Amino acid sequence: MNMDRKRVIVQKYGGTSVADPEKIKCVARRAVACKKRGYDLVIVVSALGRTTDELLKLANEISANPADRELDMLISTGEQVSVALLAMALNEIGQEAISFTGAQVGIITDSSHTKARIMDISPRRISEQLKKGRIVIVAGFQGINLDQDITTLGRGGSDMTAVALAKVLKAEVCEICTDVKGVYTADPRLVKNARKLDSISYEEMLEMASLGAQVMQARSVEVASKFNVPIHVRSSFSGGSGTMICKEVSEMEDVLVRAVTVNKGEAKVTVCNVIDKPGKASRLFEVLAKAGVNVDMIIQNVSRTGSTDISFTVPVADLARTQEVVEKVSSGIGAEGIRFDKDIAKLSVVGIGMRSHSGVAAKMFGALASRKINIEMISTSEIKISCVIRKNAAGEAVRAVHRAFGLHGGKKRVKG
Ligand code: ADP
Ligand code: ASP
Ligand code: MG
Repeated sequence: MNMDRKRVIVQKYGGTSVADPEKIKCVARRAVACKKRGYDLVIVVSALGRTTDELLKLANEISANPADRELDMLISTGEQVSVALLAMALNEIGQEAISFTGAQVGIITDSSHTKARIMDISPRRISEQLKKGRIVIVAGFQGINLDQDITTLGRGGSDMTAVALAKVLKAEVCEICTDVKGVYTADPRLVKNARKLDSISYEEMLEMASLGAQVMQARSVEVASKFNVPIHVRSSFSGGSGTMICKEVSEMEDVLVRAVTVNKGEAKVTVCNVIDKPGKASRLFEVLAKAGVNVDMIIQNVSRTGSTDISFTVPVADLARTQEVVEKVSSGIGAEGIRFDKDIAKLSVVGIGMRSHSGVAAKMFGALASRKINIEMISTSEIKISCVIRKNAAGEAVRAVHRAFGLHGGKKRVKG
């Protein structure tokens, strides 16, 4: 091992942190300060502000069903703008820096456009540049497949780029710099007295991210956990420590519920009066799986009359495809109608302490009942309980449940 090698930090800045020239200059100053502390620095940036959403909107104005390959070609452009601007901002203040696209640093992915998985990264080019004393800036969210086509890593995918680079570069830490000061007990924009957590286990963060806490992309947490990459979620705008995401330690189990999350991105589908015979439900979910629809919660009651309703939730983005395949199969399973409902929200409580305690569900349901909020579906796992409720009750529900579990802190400024 080369003993002269400096320690590496990977920092990722999200869209709001690089939304305009002033913010980009601010990121450049922070980066230089970090480098002066003796680190080799690799920065991953997202597209400016809401660029990715705007590009997707533009695509939809041209076509209701654009090809995924072309979507990737389009939405990957956002990050290319930010890397170049940040390199210029660094050069302007006398720091040598160089920007790269995902392809230029050999981020090789599979070919599942819009949700590609990283297969390999060759750190050679980055290491060469770090040795020259430069700050290396890499476009988040993008890679290239073996046919040299540009791919993207799913929404929020710059987190994935940062974690993967931190892994291959053996970085001391992967800093996820964002517009809040860390990971909170609930989205601080929904719950004003949410409390910042000093640390959280990979497992809890993964569950939270999958259940709607967008502060980190779920897949990136999965990879960080697999390779034990230490993550520090912190503010892009102020100093001070944020939240460390790390391996579970035993004290973590003392807390029953770590956080409350809300996901408004799912829809409920009810297939009415399905014949209650072996093979019917399996036929329904088989066609959904074949169509690549990500089914989440499922409920089916025992029938009294030989048929029963089956309800399940799917991401809103998969709703059109769901409708198409369920309609095709409905006569074969004896269904008498299908209902689609987008006005739902999924509210969840997460905590590894739940494994060894009872009474969490009762407390959660009690908090919702006290606000007269009806529960439409329930699902549980070892470390989470989720309820489907009406979307317009989500704000009130998350605050009531957060209070019931005593998660609130004092009034603090939460913005980064
Ligand atoms: P970035 O652009 O930096 O990637 P995101 O918008 O993807 O930022 O994620 C940060 C946002 O995540 C915050 O502004 C906050 O509203 C939201 N969020 C949701 N749940 C939480 C939570 N439990 N803790 C912190 N932030 C959360
Ligand atoms: N720009 C991409 C998105 O908006 C990736 C990211 O921000 O992490 O999803
Ligand atoms: Mg994000």
